[in-house]
Amino acid sequence: MLHEHEQGSASTDTKTWWQRPYRMIQTNLRQPDALVDQKMLARQVKDFGADVLLYNIGGIFAFYPTRLELHAVNPYMKGDALGDAIEAAHSEGLALVGRFDMSKATRIAYEAHPDWFVHNARGESLEYNGTYQACVNGGWYQDYALQIISESLGKYDVDGVFFNMFGYTNFNYSGEYFGTCACANCQRRFHDMYGKALPLKEDFSDPSYADYLEFKDRTALELRSKVYKHIKQVAPKVAMTGYRGDSDLIRMETQRALERPQPEWAYQAGEQARWGRAYGRGKTMSSTSANFIDYAWRFTSETGAYQLARAAQQLANGATLDFYLLGVMDQDDRKAFPDTSRLFKWHRDNEQSYKGLSSGAKIALYSSHKSGMYRGRTASRTTAADAFRGAYRALVEARLPFDFVSDEIVDEDGIKALEAYEAIVMPNITCLSDAEAKAIDTWVSKGGVLLVTGETGFYDARGNRRERVALASVPVEGLPMQRKNMKGSYFRIADGELPLPGVGLLMLDEDYYVATPASGAETVLTLLPPQRFGPPELCFPDFESTLPGALVGAHGKGKAIYAPWHADALYYRDSLPDTRVFLTDLILRHIAPAPVKVKGRGSIELTIQRQQASGNILVHLVNFGGQRNNLYEDAPALHGLRLGVRGAGANGRALVSGQSVAAEGPADSEGYVWFDLPPVEAFEAVEFAPA
Ligand SMILES: [Zn+2]
Repeated sequence: MLHEHEQGSASTDTKTWWQRPYRMIQTNLRQPDALVDQKMLARQVKDFGADVLLYNIGGIFAFYPTRLELHAVNPYMKGDALGDAIEAAHSEGLALVGRFDMSKATRIAYEAHPDWFVHNARGESLEYNGTYQACVNGGWYQDYALQIISESLGKYDVDGVFFNMFGYTNFNYSGEYFGTCACANCQRRFHDMYGKALPLKEDFSDPSYADYLEFKDRTALELRSKVYKHIKQVAPKVAMTGYRGDSDLIRMETQRALERPQPEWAYQAGEQARWGRAYGRGKTMSSTSANFIDYAWRFTSETGAYQLARAAQQLANGATLDFYLLGVMDQDDRKAFPDTSRLFKWHRDNEQSYKGLSSGAKIALYSSHKSGMYRGRTASRTTAADAFRGAYRALVEARLPFDFVSDEIVDEDGIKALEAYEAIVMPNITCLSDAEAKAIDTWVSKGGVLLVTGETGFYDARGNRRERVALASVPVEGLPMQRKNMKGSYFRIADGELPLPGVGLLMLDEDYYVATPASGAETVLTLLPPQRFGPPELCFPDFESTLPGALVGAHGKGKAIYAPWHADALYYRDSLPDTRVFLTDLILRHIAPAPVKVKGRGSIELTIQRQQASGNILVHLVNFGGQRNNLYEDAPALHGLRLGVRGAGANGRALVSGQSVAAEGPADSEGYVWFDLPPVEAFEAVEFAPA
């Protein structure tokens, strides 16, 4: 796989690295790594196919000779590791991004200013292997970090900066719970903002806890903003990577933790890319893919197949390539290197095709930061914990291209954040601000198709229960009543109600919401409330209600559909294809045919992107056939796939296999031009000129 052609025309302007689809290698340097031959490291990174090297500057330990007394110098370093690394990187044409970790400091700083550091209610500092966790509201983060930035960026020609772990933590590296910071700075600042004392426990039963969640969010974003402004003063051309809040580009991290609850979430990489695309509004983004399996085993590597599965989802959803090593290139376990390096070189040769892409998806999945933050206040917090992932899976597994919409961007941009979409799915998005609700309602009235499930819009932006659903477009009166434990229930499917030949029942479990339909609402399916399931002699329907499985209401030129149950969470749990059909058909029947379709068997994610400058269409197919729960092996090639693309020209180029594809004939009645695809291994990217 990964057809290589002659060396591509990858840019060597190191200052603009972040304005194009870069290929980064993040080295997380250990103290002895300061002694490696920097020229050799830069050459290895370049030979790997990367064009950006992430290298330590300082924070916990300086990798340069600092004059700041409380900034500990790496005791292994001889000379100036950072200075040598920058010179070596630039001579190889690599951009160098400097890594700061301001989240901790050594004992030198702690003993001088213990008040800068996290202390819990018992007065204990959060110490780990001789490093001390800094408090967001203390002098290390708020002031000394800026001095470190001024000194290093004033002296060194780095091309970008990255900050590790910006914010609050209440666990140590070993995963042990430490409690929240109760230092004098936190007490004072919280009191200034909310007029009360810090919460005593991290639980919504504490009257200060909801405020504390907002406090952490706001103060961490404010600190990021302060650092961003400082960097722009000290070194205006240096790009700052970030996540939420101020940044020039978005950088996230894809990794596993062995203790995470099963089943495996195979879509982590794609989920982050979709979030970054929605939140970043056009910013370049990547999500660095850890080479290792977990923090405690930083030298046991994932398979190459897993690296490809992550990268394929990232490229398919607008993120670029980023690979994360603990240490430098001389790893003990290099099994993922051949696949990852081939991928990087392939991407270098095809960089032109990945420039300036935007999504061509017509469906969006609603991602809500505030619903995540205040979920613990909602009645569906346990039953619908997996609603979002269930909806994500339903869309991917139905092979529908989709993006995310971010609640924070809807709050800022209003309807502009929604206008690209024909349909939006809100999977138990419980907490909505009034501004969000208004923007969504307006979008529906202009012709949008909205699907909401469960308790969507039952709560305000802080998780307080509302009197009626926030969205006026949702066709119910007041607030539906939660009925728990629907085990043994079904919905009856009348003839032709769903495209499920030979299926007359759809199973229901967990919650059902008894709603009063708004006038004029249509209903879909009827509820068979909990039925007897033993002994067998009694297992026949003894009661059928007229309560619906979905309500469909017109709102202006659009439609809003309410599914008064957690079809999404049930799909996540049970993986029943019929439940997926319920979720997807309700929207598909009301919108135009998807921009791209694939025929043929296989576990495939399908996406479509457009390049504004050329008008080209770039279709990705990601093959999940090598994955079984948390095992990732080489995906068997998928043969005989047929791709239908609306608006494509007659010829395309499969960039991975290196083959041309030609249209079978003119566009069909729905506008699809059909192509036979060469075998698809880990992924394929097919580029078409417009018709
Ligand atoms: Zn504190």
